[in-house]
Amino acid sequence: MPRTTPLATVPGYPRIGRDRELKRALETYWAGESGRGELDAAARTERERTWRRLAELGLDAVPSNTFSLYDQVLDAVVLAGAVPPRFASLGLDGLDAYFAMARGTGRVAPLELTKWFDTNYHYLVPEIGPATRLHLDPAKPVSEFREALALGIETRPVLLGPASLLLLSKAADGAPSGFAPLDRLDDLVAVYALLLTTLAAEGVAWVQLDEPAYAADRTAGEMDALRRVYERLGALPERPAILVQSYFGSLGDALPVLAASPVEAIGLDLVAGSLPDGDVPGLAGKTVVAGVVDGRNVWRTDLDAALATLRAVRARAGAVTVGTSCSLLHVPYDLDAETALDPQLRSWLAFADQKVAEVVTLAAALRGEDRSAAFEQARAALANRAAAPRVVDDGVRSRLARLTPDDARRGPYSERSAAQRDRLGLPPLPTTTIGSFPQTGDLRRARAAFRAGRLDRAAYTARMRAEIERVIGLQERLGLDVLVHGEPERNDMVQYFAEHLAGFVTTELGWVQSYGSRCVRPPILYGDVSRPAPITVEWVTYAQSLTDRPVKGMLTGPVTILAWSFVRDDQPLGDTARQVALAIRDETADLESAGIGIVQVDEPALRELLPLRGADRPAYLDWSVTAFRLATSGVADATQVHTHLCYSEFGDVVAAIDGLDADVTSIEAARSRMSIVPDVAASGFGRGIGPGVYDIHSPRVPDADEAEALLRRALDAIPGDRLWVNPDCGLKTRTYEQVEPALTALVAAAARVRPASE
Ligand code: GLN
Ligand code: ZN
Repeated sequence: MPRTTPLATVPGYPRIGRDRELKRALETYWAGESGRGELDAAARTERERTWRRLAELGLDAVPSNTFSLYDQVLDAVVLAGAVPPRFASLGLDGLDAYFAMARGTGRVAPLELTKWFDTNYHYLVPEIGPATRLHLDPAKPVSEFREALALGIETRPVLLGPASLLLLSKAADGAPSGFAPLDRLDDLVAVYALLLTTLAAEGVAWVQLDEPAYAADRTAGEMDALRRVYERLGALPERPAILVQSYFGSLGDALPVLAASPVEAIGLDLVAGSLPDGDVPGLAGKTVVAGVVDGRNVWRTDLDAALATLRAVRARAGAVTVGTSCSLLHVPYDLDAETALDPQLRSWLAFADQKVAEVVTLAAALRGEDRSAAFEQARAALANRAAAPRVVDDGVRSRLARLTPDDARRGPYSERSAAQRDRLGLPPLPTTTIGSFPQTGDLRRARAAFRAGRLDRAAYTARMRAEIERVIGLQERLGLDVLVHGEPERNDMVQYFAEHLAGFVTTELGWVQSYGSRCVRPPILYGDVSRPAPITVEWVTYAQSLTDRPVKGMLTGPVTILAWSFVRDDQPLGDTARQVALAIRDETADLESAGIGIVQVDEPALRELLPLRGADRPAYLDWSVTAFRLATSGVADATQVHTHLCYSEFGDVVAAIDGLDADVTSIEAARSRMSIVPDVAASGFGRGIGPGVYDIHSPRVPDADEAEALLRRALDAIPGDRLWVNPDCGLKTRTYEQVEPALTALVAAAARVRPASE
C-alpha cells in the first residue's frame, strides 16, 4: 500500500462503547451469563463503529488495534508472548488466560494494576524476568487490520512501543537483584522486528508505536535504549512506515534521538508539551504528527492558536499531520449525546468526536482551505466563556485572598494523638474500612429513581437509611473498630461532591474508562467553587446515632476532586485546588460540630497528578499538599484526620504524604505484598498508617492466614501502636459474598497479631 503522508489522525479513541456496550458484554461474559460468541460480536461491533465513525468524520488516517478487551498494555504482553508462568500453567486458552492476568482466578493473583502516567486510566503491569520467553503473537493487530480492511478502511495499527513496554514493566518474582526489564531490550526488539515484517506482509503502510515513557525523565541508558530500538526497527528491509507517538508532555532529550533515527514520523503532544526552541537535527526530514487538540480535557480548541502552532511546526518539520495531544481514550465519545447540558456550557465544550472534527478543520485550514466559519464559531465560544459571569464568584475570591499560612496548620502531632487516644479509646491495630460498601443493583436503582423523580426525597432517605443501618449492623457483627456509613448515596466519590458544589456540572453519558470494564463520569469544573450547604452530615450522623463505636466521616480531597474532573484551563490549578479545599474544609467543620470524631479525606489521586518531569514536581507538591492541609486543618486536636491514598508506587510522594500531616494514612499495599511499607518507614513517617491487606481490585477473597502474613510483614517496618488494619481501598466494586469473608479474615488476622497484653 502507498505510504502517503497523512493529513489528519488521532493516536487513539474510546473503546468501551458509546453506551458502554462493551462494559456490559464483558461483565455478562465474566458472570457466565453469555458466551464467547456474544463477547466477540460486541467487540467487533465496537471496532467497526469506531473505524467508520473516524473515517466519516474526515480523518484520512484511521488507527486500529486501539480497541482492547481490557487494557492495551496487557495486549502488548500477549503480543510479546510475555505471559507469566503462573498463568501459562493454568492450562487456559487465550481469552481466559487474558482475563486471568487481568482479574486473577481463585488460585492465582492477577497482574498488578497501576495508573497510566498522570491519568486516571489504570494499566496492568507486565512482569518480565531473565527467563521470560519472548515470542511474537501478532494475532490481534493483524486480525483487526484485516477486519477494517474488509470494511474498506485502511488503518494504522497502534502498539505500545518496546522501550515503553519494558519501562512500564516490573521485574518478575525471582529475578536476580540488579535485573531490570530493560535488560531484555534486544530480545523484545527482535519480537517487534518480526511484527513489523509481518505487518508489512499484510500490506500495512503505517504503524504507530507509542513511547509515552519518554515524556518522563529518563537516564542516559534509557535514552540509549530508545535509540537502539528505532535504529534496529528502522533498518528493517521490509516494514511499514513508523510513527513513534509520544504524549503527556514534551519528549525532552528523546526528541533529538528520534529525529536522528530512521523513523518516518514523530507524534508530539503540543498541549502539555511544546517543540523546543533550538534546532533539532533531523527534524526537517520527519513528519511531525502535531497534537494541538487537547486529548485529555473537554474544552473547545482555540483554533487560531492551534493553527499558529501548526504553522510553526511546519516551518521546522518535513511535513505536518494534525492530531490530538494523546489518545481520545481519556474523554467521552460525543457531546451531542449530552442533551441535558445547558446551551451556553455546551458551546464551550468538545468531546472525542468534536475533537476529531477540530483536527479535520485544522488540517484543511493548514492546507489553505477556507474554514473561516468554523474558526469564527470557535472564537465566539471562547470569548463567551471568557466573559461569562457564572465563572466568577467574588465571595470565593475574597475568601481565598484572606487566607494565611495558619489556616493550613494543625497543632503538634504528639498533642493531637494524645487527645485522640483519650477521645476514641481504640485497641492497638484498629480495624476499619476505606469507606464504601458494595453498591448493589438495588441501591443504584434507588438513586436513579430519586434522580429521575420517581422516588420522593422521604422514600429515598428511608432507603439510604435502611442501607446504612444494615452496613453498621454488619460492621458491628464483623467486629470492626472504626465504622463507616458505607457511602450508599454516592454514585462516585468525585461526582457526588461535584453534584453538591457550585462551579461544577455533571454529564449524563460522559463515561471514561478507568480500568477494565470500569468507567467514571468526570464532572466538568467550569467556575469558582463553593459549598452551598452541608453534603454528608445527615448520613454520617445518622450512622453514628446507630452505634457506640466511632463512625468516620468520609470526604473526597481537593486534589482528587481535580484529578478526576475535567478542570478549567483558565486559571492555575493551584488556585482551583484552594477553592475546592475551602469547600471541603466547611464540610469537615460541620461534621465535627455534629459530633463526628474521625474524618477521612481521601486523596487517592495525589500520586496520579504528580508531574512526569522531576523539575515540575516541587511546585505541584507545594500546592497539592497545601490544598489538603487547608481542607483538614480547621478541626480540633481531638478530631482524628485520616487520609487514604491508593496506588502502589509510593516512593515519589513519600515526603508529601508526611507533609499532609494526617493522623492516619491508609495505602494500597496488598497486591504488591507490602513492598512499599519499608519505604514509608524509612522516610521517617511517624503517624498512623494502614497498609491494605485485602486487594479489592480483584474478586479473590484472602483468608486470615494471608492477611496475617501481610500484617506481620508490615510490623517488621512499622511499630504496632501506629499500625491500622484495612483493605486496600473502598469495597464498592465488590459483592457482599466477597466482602464478608474478606473482612472476617481481616478482623481475625488483626486479633491474631494484636499484642497479647490487649
Ligand atoms: N472512600 C472511598 C471508597 O471507599 C475511597 C475510594 C478510593 O480511594 N478510590 O470508595
Ligand atoms: Zn482507594
